[in-house]
Amino acid sequence: MSSSPRFTPASTADRLAPTVKTGVPYRAMALEVEPAAAPATPAPAPPAQHSARAFDSTSRDDTPRREPTPGVAEADNTPAVRLLSDTLREATRRNASDLHVEPTEHGWRMRLRIDGVLHAIAQPPAHLRDAFITRVKVLARMDIAERRVPQDGRLRIATTPGKFEDYRVNSLPTLFGEKLVLRRLDALPAALSLDSLGLDPAQRATLEAAISAPHGLVLVTGPTGSGKTLSLYCFLQKLNAESRNLCSVEDPAEIQLAGINQVSVREKAGLTFAVALRAFLRQDPDVIMVGEIRDEETADVAVKAAQTGHLVLSTLHTNDAPAAIARLIDIGVEPYHLAAALRMVTAQRLVRRLCVVCRTAAPQSAAALRAAGFSEDQLDGWHPYVAAGCDACHRIGYRGRVGIHQVMPVSDAMRELIVANAGTLSLARQAQAERVGTLREAALARVRDGTTSLAEALGATEVV
Ligand SMILES: [Zn+2]
Repeated sequence: MSSSPRFTPASTADRLAPTVKTGVPYRAMALEVEPAAAPATPAPAPPAQHSARAFDSTSRDDTPRREPTPGVAEADNTPAVRLLSDTLREATRRNASDLHVEPTEHGWRMRLRIDGVLHAIAQPPAHLRDAFITRVKVLARMDIAERRVPQDGRLRIATTPGKFEDYRVNSLPTLFGEKLVLRRLDALPAALSLDSLGLDPAQRATLEAAISAPHGLVLVTGPTGSGKTLSLYCFLQKLNAESRNLCSVEDPAEIQLAGINQVSVREKAGLTFAVALRAFLRQDPDVIMVGEIRDEETADVAVKAAQTGHLVLSTLHTNDAPAAIARLIDIGVEPYHLAAALRMVTAQRLVRRLCVVCRTAAPQSAAALRAAGFSEDQLDGWHPYVAAGCDACHRIGYRGRVGIHQVMPVSDAMRELIVANAGTLSLARQAQAERVGTLREAALARVRDGTTSLAEALGATEVV
């Protein structure tokens, strides 16, 4: 039914946009910066040898003018340029999601976020710091002379010949200079499918039934960075068929999905989640995705859309599935509307997968396993694996991540509790009675089957 996943980073659109033809800094998306505003104090000139070098290739009279598109094969081969290429290649090789470039009092450091955790990489030479930061800002079309306000930009770079990668770049003026964070936009799974989410067979069946329904509200909950949006993309991809009109509004849309009408929120222009949602309803929709429900107006339109023949998918910041109900009532949704609209709530976390090359079984006391939540019949001399570290996993002990889920279909008994304005505790008890597993239980199942460590499972599902 669903077509093969085809998606590209949203920055593809940028590639088609007119590009800057010279190395002249381009104030792309500087936050709240008045172009004409004169600085109160003259901005310190960038260190001469570095900034001059950065523009060499485009400012010399005898060289043809070209846009500053970088690449490993580029003639401009200063140590800072090489360091940038090497670092981004390393980020790709290790499938990092972000690169942090951080000035310190006497130097700088670089760290990669891999599977949600930051790891320092080889100490870069101190004298290359300014040239490196300037280089990134030039490529991201940020104003290199402006160092006192945060700026945003994007850059595209050839990490290996013929293979381009896109980054979203953000600068922040810190005490010791500008800190840069480069987010890799290509750090995405190869396929957006329900299989990639890590659901157990029963959860998958429940979830498929809920998203195959013609109408209702389906919510994915969890903290930032728990993979909620990726889950919604997988749901959308599953429903992506010629016979359906799918619309999504996000803040911002980071992945382009062929076949889905995607809208990015632009608050300044008045395009909010609620405005986009109302517009969708006039566009003959079947499935609507709302990136996040965070205000009464959005919640109200989403709930009403779900009651009037549309399938609405969205996310919410709550600890677990039962808490989502109290949160929506808190935002201002009427309990009887919510009871009628809500079809399913899931909660999720990501845990790191142990490296299968080096994981080792380590004895754990029965008391520790019992305290974690394992049942007596599981304490049969079995020992969980712990992370070790080898060349295959760059001495980290983990490679990649997997989702753990709580999948809670909304039953008639729960609808009655919602209408009666029951608290989260009563809803959680009802979910338990209906054999909805908790996140902790899902995490422990992954420890039991050797996918992850006890430390990782406990860290991701702290019981508050
Ligand atoms: Zn390993």
